[in-house]
Amino acid sequence: MRHEDLIPHMCARPLLEVRHLSLDFGSPRGRVHALRNVSLDVPAGQVVGIIGESGSGKSTLGYTVMGLLPEYAQITAGSIVFEGRDQITLTAQARRSLMGDRLSMIFQDPTNALNPVRTIESQMIDIQHHEQGNRSAKRSHALDMLKRVGIPDPLSRVGNYPHQFSVGMRQRICIAMALLVKPALLIADEPTTALDATLEVQIIHLLKDLQREIGCAILFVSHHLGVVAELCDHVAVMYAGEIVEHGPVRDIFHSPGHPYTRALLECDPGRIKQRTRNLPTIPGEVPSPLGTKTGCIFRPRCTHAFDRCVHETPGEYRVAADQVARCHLLGGAEIVTV
Ligand code: SF4
Repeated sequence: MRHEDLIPHMCARPLLEVRHLSLDFGSPRGRVHALRNVSLDVPAGQVVGIIGESGSGKSTLGYTVMGLLPEYAQITAGSIVFEGRDQITLTAQARRSLMGDRLSMIFQDPTNALNPVRTIESQMIDIQHHEQGNRSAKRSHALDMLKRVGIPDPLSRVGNYPHQFSVGMRQRICIAMALLVKPALLIADEPTTALDATLEVQIIHLLKDLQREIGCAILFVSHHLGVVAELCDHVAVMYAGEIVEHGPVRDIFHSPGHPYTRALLECDPGRIKQRTRNLPTIPGEVPSPLGTKTGCIFRPRCTHAFDRCVHETPGEYRVAADQVARCHLLGGAEIVTV
């Protein structure tokens, strides 16, 4: 038996390694620093959630990994290593060949994700362009996947256009298309936001079942903490373009180390035990992404801030075995990420 078979979690390289990634958007008012020094691992076959308030950079990180950035975006530092290759240094053609094959994405709004003038059948056959087999085999594969995601009577529905399905059904079709190619990594950008609560639960269970069956990893972007707690193995907490804490989902939800994570959890409606008319919020606002920042990015809203937080950007400190957070209060030895 090889050494890595004995302790695979210590030896196996993560499927996705994001290291010190910084991304700017050009704007008439100056450079918008959308991601700052972001480092994140997604191990093969695991589900990693990204949580944070609106504007924290969660979706931007997902789109950056996927390589779906507008022309005015610029990666200013760092690397995105997927299956051992830095995506930033690949040619556009090499990146395109990974999409819809090794990398796949479910978008937030299923009403815009499908081509409105083409049938579901033609779109599901086209997405299998990397696969061997004739059109008939690909059609049969598409029908099978539609059945697995719960589309009733797929044989009679596969020739329909997207507008002939409800929003929930369209999201199921998007999930079917994203998983049809058996990707190594699926990026799911708030895939349940457009759905009601009942459908959300169904879609999450469906994603969990299919993820186990296919064995893919998922980078799951969401502001819904209950969904992340149910679906994910690990979670990263983003604030103003930075990851301020990450670790196993149980550790983060039961013993958060960063004041922002604690505040975020305290504002989760699903955790509020008493009846109230006013839901709690985190006082203050997410800082402007324009200009350079010194000190802790969360300082203007942090009730624990002290002098050091003004001048010194916190590094990563260990909270538990696999849990780290960026806060001076945690003290101890700083972790240096390479
Ligand atoms: Fe608050 Fe300071 Fe910790 Fe930042 S470093 S979260 S300001 S205590």
